[in-house]
Amino acid sequence: MTERSGCKLRVIWLWFSVIFSNFTPSRLLTQLLTGLIVIVLNLPFAFAKQVNIEHFNTDASRVEQLIDTNLTLALKRLIVYQPLVSELSIKQQLLYYKLLAEIYVEQGQYTQGKTTANQGLNIAKQLASPSIKITELLYIRGFAFESLGHIPDAREDYKKGLEVAESLHNKVFIAYGLINLGAIYYLSDDYERSLVVLNDAFNIAEQTSDEELKGSVNSELGILYSYLQQDKQSMAYYQQAYAHFKKAGKLHAALNSLHNIAINHNSNERYAQAIAVFKTIIAESKNTSSDSEILYGVYSGMAWAHLEQEESNPEAAYQYLMQAKQFIDFTEQHSVLVQFYINQAFILFELKQYDKTLVSIDKAEAMLAEQSQLSSLQKHSIISLHNLRANTLFEQQQFEQAYQLKTQVLLDIAAMDDKEDTRSVEQVRLHLESEQADARNKALQDQNLLHEAALTQAKIANEEENIYLLLSALAALAFAWLLVKLLQGKKKLKIASSVDPLTGVVNRRSLIHQGNKSLALACQKEFAYSVLMIDIDHFKQINDNLGHRQGDSVLVEISKLGQIMMRKTDIFGRYGGEEFIVLLPKTSLAQAKIIAERLRVAIAEITWPMTSLEKVTVSIGVASKQAHEKGDLLSLINTADERLYQAKAQGRDRVCG
Ligand code: GH3
Ligand code: MG
Ligand code: MG
Repeated sequence: MTERSGCKLRVIWLWFSVIFSNFTPSRLLTQLLTGLIVIVLNLPFAFAKQVNIEHFNTDASRVEQLIDTNLTLALKRLIVYQPLVSELSIKQQLLYYKLLAEIYVEQGQYTQGKTTANQGLNIAKQLASPSIKITELLYIRGFAFESLGHIPDAREDYKKGLEVAESLHNKVFIAYGLINLGAIYYLSDDYERSLVVLNDAFNIAEQTSDEELKGSVNSELGILYSYLQQDKQSMAYYQQAYAHFKKAGKLHAALNSLHNIAINHNSNERYAQAIAVFKTIIAESKNTSSDSEILYGVYSGMAWAHLEQEESNPEAAYQYLMQAKQFIDFTEQHSVLVQFYINQAFILFELKQYDKTLVSIDKAEAMLAEQSQLSSLQKHSIISLHNLRANTLFEQQQFEQAYQLKTQVLLDIAAMDDKEDTRSVEQVRLHLESEQADARNKALQDQNLLHEAALTQAKIANEEENIYLLLSALAALAFAWLLVKLLQGKKKLKIASSVDPLTGVVNRRSLIHQGNKSLALACQKEFAYSVLMIDIDHFKQINDNLGHRQGDSVLVEISKLGQIMMRKTDIFGRYGGEEFIVLLPKTSLAQAKIIAERLRVAIAEITWPMTSLEKVTVSIGVASKQAHEKGDLLSLINTADERLYQAKAQGRDRVCG
């Protein structure tokens, strides 16, 4: 989610085999080139007349260079040959369509890129013998398919392209084909196969001196390792990718690696570092004509960091998202658009703009519904959107709907547990430990060296916290953090057996454990902290009238409602019997009483399916420590308990605090 911030899924300059050396874009050069555009724009016909097909090869080389530095100019320079294409030789025509398709794809115009690559492939049918241009066209078309979300078509093209490269014994393009397939495999949750082919590509790349190829394979391995939740490993690969791209003079690709690094920080909750790297990318991209996908990713990543950091700032997050939006029109990349709406929904929710939240959720869900084949990451995204919708409906007091949806979410998460994809991640991880040790050790050996390189290139002092930032690496996938969080969340629950088996909420032991931890933090950082103690009124009667099992289901339903009502930093748990506790960090007594009252009303408004059960009420005791006070959990619980019994004494169905 990854983007996942709308991350660039992959680097798209993978397949350029020809590296023109000594071309470094300078400000001056860029200005000169920009001046040229003006001339071209103003004198299209005059310019067209001057076009001479004899100059095509020279111009094509120039365009090939420009693709790395100035796409607009590259397009202008190439497109003048359009009326003359049929006069070019077959080989030149192939080159023309390849370059044009490449430009479109680089600009994020995948549909046009696909059509153009198609035209080239049609011309290629006239060739007497296979040419590497066919491979290039197939890879470009495949990437366009991939970016548009048509994974099976992409796989076909990559395979065909790879066959041609193999028949021509072209090592570099064989490696790029393997890289492309490796990406397709991880996108289809086939991590094992992805690892095998990327490893092959890695070995081929090692035999060459092609820095760009090495950068690309490291970059993809970084993404794969992030899928496998091997964040440190992933980071090492991204560092290497960054260093190789820099060496190759591939500035866009290097920035893309930095972007992946920032996302790594974001998904590991190192928001200050993430923000620092994002700022570096913004600064560096001013010197290059950075593509809009990276800038989109940077600004939406900034949005995510500001939303999620400890001092959450949803207003700033929203502003960054709007900055990101400026770049979104340039891309057709499916996952980027989906991810934008997901981010927007989460931020609008925090801004308490619930109607708009629902609109964004609708858009994201509609786009995901168009997909024929969903990756596990996308499935997780759907669940998290359902969850957000439930929370939103709840805030809009639509308790019934919220409750039903939340129940579905819990079922979906449980179903996910049994799914193979989770297991296959585990399996591949085990393989990884043994079979891939070689490649990994090598990566680690290089790490010190790379640390140095990365430090000189982009050492950043975080002004506020004065943190030196080591460039470290990670996931380019838009929603990766969602997957990682969900999987990690589930694992923790299982290992610690901290869950109450009847209701699925946190049990007493875990409440005390987590409460001690969060209260200690509250004392240290001097923020307020509250505890709610909830007891169901006349629960014995409910048991007596309906039976113990129905009594159980009342406990279950109240737990679910309690859980969905709380913020993610709150903890709702079962203290025992028909008593529940809610831990509320950063919550004053006054706020806690409001929360308790909302919960009380919501429970009283539940419509019960059992005919003889009309209404269930609860009494709640509230206890707090103020920001500057010290406090220990057991005294807070005791105070909350005393107040609970005041509530009972005053007639039940009320909050005392
Ligand atoms: P009050 O309003 O004063 O709280 O009355 P009450 O009836 O709720 O209080 P009391 O503490 O007397 O009764 C609690 C009952 O909750 C007694 C016990 O059988 C029942 N209980 C405790 N744990 C469970 C459980 O897991 N399932 C069910 N069905 N009942 C439970
Ligand atoms: Mg009781
Ligand atoms: Mg009771």
